[in-house]
Amino acid sequence: MKPSPAFAVPKHQVFDVLELRKDFPVLLQKAHGKPLIYFDNAATSQKPQAVIHALTEYYSAYNANIHRGVHFLSQKASQAFDDVRGKVAKFIHAATEKEIIFVRGTTEGINLVAATFGRMNVKEGDEIVVSAMEHHSNIVPWQILCEEKKAILKVIPMDDDGVLDINAYASLLNSKTKLVSIVHTSNSLGTINPVKEIINLAHQKGIPVMIDAAQAIVHEPIDVHDLDCDFLAFSGHKMLGPTGIGVLYGKLQHLESMPPYQGGGEMIHSVSFKQTTYNEVPYKFEAGTPNIADVIALGTAIDYLNSLDRHAALNHELGLMEYASLKLSELEGVKLIGTAPEKASVVSFVIIGLNALDVGMYLDTMGVAVRTGHHCTEPVMDRFGIPGTIRASFMFYNTYAEVDVLIAGCEKSYCFIKMKTVTIPEIENEIIGEFELFDEWTEKYEYIIELGQKLPVLDEKYKIEENKIKGCQSSVWLHSEVREGKIYFEADSDSTFVKGEIALLIRVLSGQKPQDILDAQLGFIDAIGFRQHLAMTRANGLASMIKQMKLYALAHQSQQTA
Ligand code: PLP
Repeated sequence: MKPSPAFAVPKHQVFDVLELRKDFPVLLQKAHGKPLIYFDNAATSQKPQAVIHALTEYYSAYNANIHRGVHFLSQKASQAFDDVRGKVAKFIHAATEKEIIFVRGTTEGINLVAATFGRMNVKEGDEIVVSAMEHHSNIVPWQILCEEKKAILKVIPMDDDGVLDINAYASLLNSKTKLVSIVHTSNSLGTINPVKEIINLAHQKGIPVMIDAAQAIVHEPIDVHDLDCDFLAFSGHKMLGPTGIGVLYGKLQHLESMPPYQGGGEMIHSVSFKQTTYNEVPYKFEAGTPNIADVIALGTAIDYLNSLDRHAALNHELGLMEYASLKLSELEGVKLIGTAPEKASVVSFVIIGLNALDVGMYLDTMGVAVRTGHHCTEPVMDRFGIPGTIRASFMFYNTYAEVDVLIAGCEKSYCFIKMKTVTIPEIENEIIGEFELFDEWTEKYEYIIELGQKLPVLDEKYKIEENKIKGCQSSVWLHSEVREGKIYFEADSDSTFVKGEIALLIRVLSGQKPQDILDAQLGFIDAIGFRQHLAMTRANGLASMIKQMKLYALAHQSQQTA
């Protein structure tokens, strides 16, 4: 069935960003009243209408289980599903569609290789090589394997620009190395690794190489034949397709020698209690009913990418990255993290003296969606000695005008957050004014709950016993940090109401000098009616939180004066 022209993959004669944007319905909306600017493409890409339609069309017109049904719908669904395997093989230049295994995403692809090829080939004392810039999904599966087999995980170091040390890599390869697993393009630094050279060096010693192409796949053409990689994994949702579907490519000779991953229907040839035989590849690795709708929509995402002038799209993305990097580096306090000469359209940065999350939330108020934190690459953050970065990642549908809004937002956030001059009494008055809008305690209560729901999540690593506040009925954790003489608080609780109280306290006390925190009278608590409405246990809990914040202020102040 051919979709109506409104839903078909458009024919893009020329690369025209403003025209292309119309294919992505999400981009047409506003966030907090401002035009949405989506710079979180490395986390997941937006989906063109044709992909969304492919999903709804499958469920509304030919939903059926595949391969074993003889009826009309099943035949139709099987055909649509099977066609995509060939499409993927062609897209990445695999020798045959047997080399294409459908998985949930990059993470599952890597886990599959670790659990089959890895278990089969790695023994005690063997080594697996990864790099210092891997996503957690290309670290943890190998750590699990190494723990099980008493093998050793070796790490290729990188320099301050985020470039891998190829000489160090070459010297890591030896007769004990059973696999190299390496990211093509780093999601947190943007570095594009010289994967062909990396594969070549390993192959000279007969070592197979797996490539994590999660980021690369949407930006540049991937040719597994040319790369000569042994395995390669990517996720549909990062290449305009749906979530829950991805691809593992493996050289046929490897796949044929590997044991199955999971057991169940589809992956067997015949089953008896005496002996079960397995299906041929790729089905041997696809137990159970597959993700039919998402495979079909992945095929449409590939059609969409093929409809683009990919060279022009890549150039546009790189142009955005270079423009953003230049403009950001001109801003006071901004430090770019990841300055490799070969980079994809990812800009990671910190603003000295500012918390990345604070900046991310401020940019969000301007409609700009960026990602903040460690981006599932904690070792990268450790390498640079930072807790996290602000990351803007661009796709071909982003514009230079959008980058200008990001830059203006960063500039403003620096002035706004860093130069915070609003005094504690001023903030208290603001809060009192907000609560005066409500007549009833129920409305005030609901507002506090709303504040609690919006409280940023406290990193799990801070939810430790020593951060727990004693005297609260609910569990409450409070973490404090000093930056440039001011104390910043973050906190969490298992009670949403308490989180609301915390949100108010943080608004008043966080970002203030220790002495001002110690002097704070916090009259707003009575003024908004807390004291008369709070149960005794809750009131005691609130008092304990305030006491703890003041104790932190005292401790930090004595450190400063010591
Ligand atoms: N590898 C890299 C480089 C990534 O950026 C990501 C996701 O951000 C992954 C692996 C994991 O992908 P998924 O969560 O889709 O399995």
